[in-house]
Amino acid sequence: MEFKQLNLISPLLKAISETGYTTPTAIQQKAIPVILSGQDLIGCAQTGTGKTAAFALPLLQRLSEHNVHGKTMPIRALILTPTRELAIQIGENINLYRKHLKLNYCTIFGGVNQDRQVKEIKKGVDILVATPGRLLDLMNQKLIFLDKIEVLILDEADNMLDMGFIHDIKKILAKVPEKRQTLFFSATMPPNIRKFAHGILHKPVEVDVTPVSSTAEKVNQSVYFIEKKEKIKLLTNLLKQFKQDRTIVFSRTKHGADKIVKLLAKNGLRAAAIHGNKSQNARQKALGEFKENRLKILIATDIAARGIDIEQLPMVINYDLPNVPETYVHRIGRTGRAGLEGNAISFCDVEERPYLSDIEKLIGLKIKVNKVGK
Ligand code: AMP
Repeated sequence: MEFKQLNLISPLLKAISETGYTTPTAIQQKAIPVILSGQDLIGCAQTGTGKTAAFALPLLQRLSEHNVHGKTMPIRALILTPTRELAIQIGENINLYRKHLKLNYCTIFGGVNQDRQVKEIKKGVDILVATPGRLLDLMNQKLIFLDKIEVLILDEADNMLDMGFIHDIKKILAKVPEKRQTLFFSATMPPNIRKFAHGILHKPVEVDVTPVSSTAEKVNQSVYFIEKKEKIKLLTNLLKQFKQDRTIVFSRTKHGADKIVKLLAKNGLRAAAIHGNKSQNARQKALGEFKENRLKILIATDIAARGIDIEQLPMVINYDLPNVPETYVHRIGRTGRAGLEGNAISFCDVEERPYLSDIEKLIGLKIKVNKVGK
């Protein structure tokens, strides 16, 4: 799926592409249409899944649909989040996505002098990102009013409750209009959180991104810690070892994909690359051969691989690890389908270690480490 298909307006699509996102993550695909339709939402998603953009993009779109002009610019959206770091991060993301829109935002949190925050709010903000304590404090001083809130977002609700913000949140909720859209995000959904959510939401649609990671459990996953320059040798050895199996090798870049094809050819292995710089014809030809089993090795970038429907692929090799963890899950979801055993082997150099830990966090398991030469 592409962002275009989510019915986002062009100023947002432009900002998304400038930010460098190419495809929406799972939570974005699921949550954006619901939020754009004006419905309440419960989103079960962890940090790292792209959940900030999942709520910030449709929020900006909804607010931009009817800009409020006039002297008193009321706060129209409130995002509550447990920590100062998260508040800052959300603010920074909103700043990127709103680049081509006329919407203002402000971030407030405790532990610092309030004057600068108050000054900014007085200039008029559409979106307020806040930690509960500081918000309540400024509300009590009659420096912030929430009576024109159209959209209320609770981010990391489970953490907010764990941190004892329940009373603050209840006081804040009492000042927000009843008629509003409410979005509730939480990484976990134990019964007390669910009960709390249902008390403040109106007929919410529930979206959950955990099934994405569970597909990973059907696949034998392993990783080689390896230097970048050793990757091609290992790839050649593995491909020779599994020569009966059709294999997709993922490369992060188009250039990298072409290079792999050339290097494999030198080692006597025929492969073809599919990526955005290849003509449609060349891609179709390579895919056709691969599907008919005449070509055993396909080197693909993530975008080119999307939408390719190849059933029962026994082997996926991640020559490079993706920097978006969901991409890993999508890649390995191509193997181990229909109850068949699948293998996903990843190469991880020193620079890719952080990607690996993000992936392990998302799928909730440690990937088995292989030793080169075994
Ligand atoms: P979050 O879960 O909101 O903390 O996002 C995790 C990281 O993923 C952030 O660094 C985002 O900038 C990034 N991100 C969000 N959406 C996408 C996307 N569609 N493609 C690539 N990166 C993304």
